[in-house]
Amino acid sequence: MPPLRAVCCLWYARDMKHEIFWQNPGYVIRPELKEDIECDYLIVGGGITGVSAAHFLTKFGAQNVVLVEKQYIGSGATGKAAGTLVTRGERDLTDMIKEYGLEKTHLLWNKTHEALRALRQIIATEAIDCDAESQDTLICGFPGKNYNNLYEEYEAEKRIESTTRILEGDELKKEINSPLFNHGVLSAQHGLCVDPLRFVQGFSGVVEKNGVRIYENTAVVQAINGIARTNHGTIKYKKIIWAIDVDYPSDDIRNLRTTIIVTRPLTSEEVMKIGFAERKKVVWDSRKNENYFKLTKDNRILLGFGGIVVHKKHRKTDPHFPHLKQLQGFIKRIFPYLDLEIEYTWSGHFGVNKHWSQGPFIKVSENEATISGAGSQVVCFMAGEHIAHKLLGKPSPSELYFGN
Ligand SMILES: Cc1cc2nc3c(=O)[nH]c(=O)nc-3n(C[C@H](O)[C@H](O)[C@H](O)COP(=O)(O)OP(=O)(O)OC[C@H]3O[C@@H](n4cnc5c(N)ncnc54)[C@H](O)[C@@H]3O)c2cc1C
Repeated sequence: MPPLRAVCCLWYARDMKHEIFWQNPGYVIRPELKEDIECDYLIVGGGITGVSAAHFLTKFGAQNVVLVEKQYIGSGATGKAAGTLVTRGERDLTDMIKEYGLEKTHLLWNKTHEALRALRQIIATEAIDCDAESQDTLICGFPGKNYNNLYEEYEAEKRIESTTRILEGDELKKEINSPLFNHGVLSAQHGLCVDPLRFVQGFSGVVEKNGVRIYENTAVVQAINGIARTNHGTIKYKKIIWAIDVDYPSDDIRNLRTTIIVTRPLTSEEVMKIGFAERKKVVWDSRKNENYFKLTKDNRILLGFGGIVVHKKHRKTDPHFPHLKQLQGFIKRIFPYLDLEIEYTWSGHFGVNKHWSQGPFIKVSENEATISGAGSQVVCFMAGEHIAHKLLGKPSPSELYFGN
């Protein structure tokens, strides 16, 4: 008879699927390119960056736009993500104010809010079926020897956001009933929760409706002198946009591996007990280790953690075991009173700029643009707008953020 611990592990291994939770069975993958074609704008990569660039190019009047994706739309980082589209990036506001000053930080902050509003509007007006829900952001702090910058962050956010509140005691418990945290900063309407796969695939349908020709299962294997070669056809283009994130061949781009678990659905009593009855929110822990969680539309807890730099070619989605162990331990510490089986777990990869404090890696010349390593889908969307402006020869409203 194996010891009890080993039996538990076997039970976990049997019930937990090493699979991505997001599925879109109704999605029909578009045919691959099998002829020689011409276009004005060629976008390589069908994640949120490429689809956003296509959206803004057509919105600003560009015609003859082609997008090619080597697998299917959303098959990269975008469709494996947690689906929390948030205004706050990885950087503390306190650090940003120190670096840019209050006025510039305020402008950047407003620009991100604007992008989030634009995303909400696209989803609503185009009726993209992706379980979209507006949400608050709650950053939580721990008792005892702590990461005190949360109070400082609150003071910083208060300078540009009148609704932000600091929560302690019962006020906090009402928002999140966990013995782990004793204070938190609540920012109202700072996020949008989506099923990221259905969102980006739905968004690709919108840009296609607006005239963009899309080919899936079509990898660009070479692009020289205005001719892109794929396996079964060539594309003659005037301008090209590389939106291939971690696949972009530059030492400045790192491949970050991160892991997610999704539990069984909670009962409505459990949802009430953890403090999620009235409001949707994404919760972050204030340590610098990227722990975050939210409820999915069907009331499962989705908890994510981790960032480990791995080899550029690494793409496996089986869970990174040290992350998984950390997540299993963390969920028990957040909600010790719940018995939560984990039903799904996977790891995904995304690009980050080696010089991360500079934001995404963006290169623009007259006929070519690259966006990679944005690390956040809202920033990918903003970067798509930025380079659409640049390639059309128009001033970009995000110049302050992304440079020239
Ligand atoms: C597990 C996980 C959780 C995350 N959670 C969040 C989150 O909650 N919120 C958030 O904002 N961000 C999150 N991120 C980060 C975010 O998802 C990424 O920063 C973003 O999706 C990058 O988008 P992209 O379009 O640039 O890249 P991708 O989505 O990777 O798209 C690039 C596409 O290019 C294609 N491609 C590559 N080479 C070629 C070629 N030669 N020819 C044709 N096509 C090619 C790839 O197949 C791929 O589909 C998460 C990432 C991961 C992995």
